[in-house]
Amino acid sequence: MLLPRFTRLAPSLRLRRPPTSPAYASFSTTASARMKVLPVPVRDDNYAYLLIDDSTNKAAAVDPYDVPKVQAAAEKAGVQIVAGITTHHHFDHSGGNQAFSTAYPGAPIYGGSNKIPALTNQVKDKDEFSVANIHVRCLATPCHTQDSICYYVTDKSGNHPGGVFTGDTLFIAGCGRFFEGTGAEMHAALSYLATLPPQTVVYDGHEYTKSNLAFAKSVDPENPGLARLEKLIKDGIQPNERTTIGDEKEWNPFMRLDSAPIQKATGGGESGAAMDALRTLKNNFRG
Ligand SMILES: [Zn+2]
Repeated sequence: MLLPRFTRLAPSLRLRRPPTSPAYASFSTTASARMKVLPVPVRDDNYAYLLIDDSTNKAAAVDPYDVPKVQAAAEKAGVQIVAGITTHHHFDHSGGNQAFSTAYPGAPIYGGSNKIPALTNQVKDKDEFSVANIHVRCLATPCHTQDSICYYVTDKSGNHPGGVFTGDTLFIAGCGRFFEGTGAEMHAALSYLATLPPQTVVYDGHEYTKSNLAFAKSVDPENPGLARLEKLIKDGIQPNERTTIGDEKEWNPFMRLDSAPIQKATGGGESGAAMDALRTLKNNFRG
C-alpha cells in the first residue's frame, strides 16, 4: 500500500507512517505524482534507494550496495530497474556495482569518477540525464571524496517537491568527514546544496540523525529547529523519513557557519577555517 503523504505535510518533515505499514510505504507522494523514492536500508546504517517513475514503473537504484535486497525491494514495488546511480567511490556506496552490472546488464551506472566500479557514464557538475520521466541534475560536491556527486531529481508532474541524493556530503543535521577535501570545499558543497528549493527532500547516505543532533545541540543549544528535530525523534521519527533543504538550513550547524552560536563555537573567521574548526569539534565530540 502506498500512502498519499505529501498532501498532508507541513513543509518539512513527513508524518509518521502507521506502525504496521511496510518500511517502503512512506515515500509515496500524491496519487498523481510520477516520482517516488523508496529507501532500502543496507549494511548497518547505509541507505540505498529506489528512484521510481510511477508512470512507467521504471527505477534507478542509488548506491545499490546489497543488490539482492535492492532487487527484492524492486520486485515488491513492481518496478523494473533500468539504471544505477553512485554518489561516490567509497565501498559502502559503490561496492554493489559489480553485482549490479551482472544483474542488470546494459543498465547504465552513473558516477563521478573511474574509481567507481562498473562505471559506464562518468558525470560532472551540471550534467543532466533522465530515468524514464525523471530528470536528474548532477551537482559536484567534492570534499568527503573528490568524486562526490549529489543528484537533484524532479519529475514533470510537479507533484513531488523534488529530492536530492546527497551520499556522504549532507546528512540530517550533519555532514560527511573531509576525507579528500578541505573545509572550504565542504562549505562550497553545502552552500551549493542550499541553493536548491527549500522543499527539496534530502535522501542521504547514512542514518546518523541521533548522533548529529547531539553534536548540533552542543554547539547551537538555543536553536528552536533542533528542538523540533529532537521532538520528531522522540515521537518516533522513522529512519525512512527525511527532512528538506529548508530544514537543514534551519538546524544543520554545518549550513549555519554565519550564525552567532556557530561563530562562537568555531571562533569565527573565514568560512573555510570555520568549517574545519566545526568538523574538528564534531570529530572530537563524545556527547
Ligand atoms: Zn563515504
